[in-house]
Amino acid sequence: MSVVDRQEWDVVVVGAGGAGLRAAIEARERGARTAVICKSLFGKAHTVMAEGGIAAAMANANEHDSWQVHFRDTLRGGKFLNQWRMAELHAREAPDRVWELETWGALFDRTKDGRISQRNFGGHEYPRLAHVGDRTGLELIRTLQQRIVALQQEDEKETGDYESRLKVFQECTVTRVLKDGERVSGVFAYDRETGRFFVLEAPAVVVATGGIGKSFKVTSNSWEYTGDGHALALLAGAPLLNMEFVQFHPTGMVWPPSVKGILVTESVRGDGGVLRNSEGKRFMFDYVPDVFKEKYAESEDEADRWYDAPDSNRRPPELLPRDEVARAINAEVKAGRGSPHGGVFLDVSTRMPAEVIRRRLPSMYHQFKELADVDITAEAMEVGPTCHYVMGGVAVDSDTAAARGVPGLYAAGEVAGGMHGSNRLGGNSLSDLLVFGRRAGRHAADYAQRAAGGRPRVDDAQVNTASAEALRPFSAETEGEAGPPENPYTLHQELQQTMNDLVGIIRREGEMEQALQRLAGLRARARRAGVEGHRQFNPGWHLALDLRNMLLVSECVARAALERTESRGGHTREDCPAMDRAWRNVNLLCTLADPTGHLAAADPGRGQIRLTRETTEPIRPDLLALFEKEELVKYLAEEELYE
Ligand code: FAD
Repeated sequence: MSVVDRQEWDVVVVGAGGAGLRAAIEARERGARTAVICKSLFGKAHTVMAEGGIAAAMANANEHDSWQVHFRDTLRGGKFLNQWRMAELHAREAPDRVWELETWGALFDRTKDGRISQRNFGGHEYPRLAHVGDRTGLELIRTLQQRIVALQQEDEKETGDYESRLKVFQECTVTRVLKDGERVSGVFAYDRETGRFFVLEAPAVVVATGGIGKSFKVTSNSWEYTGDGHALALLAGAPLLNMEFVQFHPTGMVWPPSVKGILVTESVRGDGGVLRNSEGKRFMFDYVPDVFKEKYAESEDEADRWYDAPDSNRRPPELLPRDEVARAINAEVKAGRGSPHGGVFLDVSTRMPAEVIRRRLPSMYHQFKELADVDITAEAMEVGPTCHYVMGGVAVDSDTAAARGVPGLYAAGEVAGGMHGSNRLGGNSLSDLLVFGRRAGRHAADYAQRAAGGRPRVDDAQVNTASAEALRPFSAETEGEAGPPENPYTLHQELQQTMNDLVGIIRREGEMEQALQRLAGLRARARRAGVEGHRQFNPGWHLALDLRNMLLVSECVARAALERTESRGGHTREDCPAMDRAWRNVNLLCTLADPTGHLAAADPGRGQIRLTRETTEPIRPDLLALFEKEELVKYLAEEELYE
């Protein structure tokens, strides 16, 4: 058995995106010795790719905006399945988190009178997204990194060591959360370059690992999104909440094939871009659902007037929440009114002067010019839905971000469930990262402090099991299981195709059952996933390990999607097309079928995941009072309304 280095910390943060860095800053500022560990280079997390902006009701662009309006929009977007307390905290605290970023050096675009500029986005009643062109995530990460460096400089002055209280382990992957009895005792990880194993011992662990998009073939997500944090929490005993809700962003690139799925930011529509089909029709007017009818324009004239006079006109239907727009595009393509490469047309060229497009949407201009040879100042883009974000995630306490049932485990950012209900509004992720990253860091640090007297012990047997699990791909051939070793890349490809085709944007019962069967087959084959060579930077080995996580989360998505017999937000069933009020207050929880965390022992027939239902906590009356009764009737069940 290999010798495994160990280090002691108070808080370990897994993930260095917006949520992880904000958590680490908070934990360190509260006195906890904090380690951050990430798969990629420091500063290269998924958050960097965020384009459009951070949603926060600062009321800079429209004085009528407030946290209450933001809360309302978020619940409408999530079709009232949001963990309402999270949505409340998020709406109340987001402005402070944006101003705080500014005090740490973030340079946002400004209004004419010098305030932080805010732009329109789907589902937000007022212009609400603070932004830096279409490169907001880059500025967010740069600012948080800068803050981390500043804290390290303070520590160096006091202790002579930059890393004495805050250290970043980059290009390292965590494969297991370790436990002492019920509570967390640290993490098992490996260095991706050398293959060296190590353990970070800590009473508190924050998972902030982002999403799951790499389980789908067409996705806007990067290579890091293999659902690691979801799987780590599940394996440690925490339930995952409402995993059926996967957001398909309406506008990804569809051509050329090598870049299919890359995001086309919603800012294009927020800034005036319109969607047209092959007949030149602005088709979104045909797809405004009843629940939104009063809020969206009925004619092109009214929609166009809204950009200059938002208080006296209704919004263009291109700015409906993402789930509605994605379904509409899907329907147009299916009806034979798509663009030549299977999407629809998104046009800004006829809506804004070329120099305005280049200034407001610089990344989009370059993306299309360089990847597709399309000049968006002169011609329309071709776009179609792409897997973008997972609303489902680790079930957490709203106030503390503590993962349910596992003392010492916290989750924040995209990996955490609840905040966005069945569908996230654009811009609400970056603010979520800051609001709940901070809360997770604070509560993890407080918890670690309370545990200081009796730190949990790391169990050698668990470390040995984690080492053996990580080494298994090197000995796949000699394990004597049926069949030759499997190529992890082939397995990954088949998994992505399965999820794309059978549990994608439009779902059907028979197809999801088929998906579960295929996943069972892939799981069996993944146990024989073999790699050659050694542990020094070996991407095939990394993928073989990631497969465990992708297979786990994919099963969660498929099982929950099969169970929820209605359509809501990011879960659309052709066989149950309506939103059903009886499902409004039902959460679906996924736990590991074998609660000891041993995957092999799970019953192959039942799969690795057990699904249970729970009733959501009733929405607090003062928050419900923010809505008109006529609107609530569309969402809430009779008995909820009566109460
Ligand atoms: P990430 O930023 O993805 O960070 C995850 C971290 O976890 C990384 O450091 C990764 O290396 C690490 N990690 C993962 N697994 C492991 C492991 N096993 N061990 C160690 N480390 C691990 N949202 C908005 O609100 N506004 C926008 O304008 C916007 N634009 C977007 C544009 C694009 C193209 C995309 C793809 C998303 C966009 N989003 C936007 C969504 C938003 O960017 C993400 O939801 C958000 O950045 C996720 O942040 P995070 O901190 O949760 O995770």
